[in-house]
Amino acid sequence: MLNEVPALIHNCSSCSLAEIWFEEDGSDVYLNLNRVATEEDLESNHCLEYEGQAIETVQIQVAFCPYCGQKLASGKKVVVPQFQHYNFGGGK
Ligand SMILES: [Zn+2]
Repeated sequence: MLNEVPALIHNCSSCSLAEIWFEEDGSDVYLNLNRVATEEDLESNHCLEYEGQAIETVQIQVAFCPYCGQKLASGKKVVVPQFQHYNFGGGK
């Protein structure tokens, strides 16, 4: 199974420390942040299969990178604060 890797629209030293990526949807820019399973998570949650597995993802609309301050959204439209939360951990 091939997953297409989305084009990186921004990368900085903070972003390289965690599973973070930015996504563009028209003039909107979204920050996606993954929480991945650690060894400890694997021991306490048997629904998890491997270290590094994504447990949760939050997606937040942003205008700037919150870590280095670079402007990412090109439009002048006001960003409406909102987020999506995805839970892949099996909920136990
Ligand atoms: Zn940045």
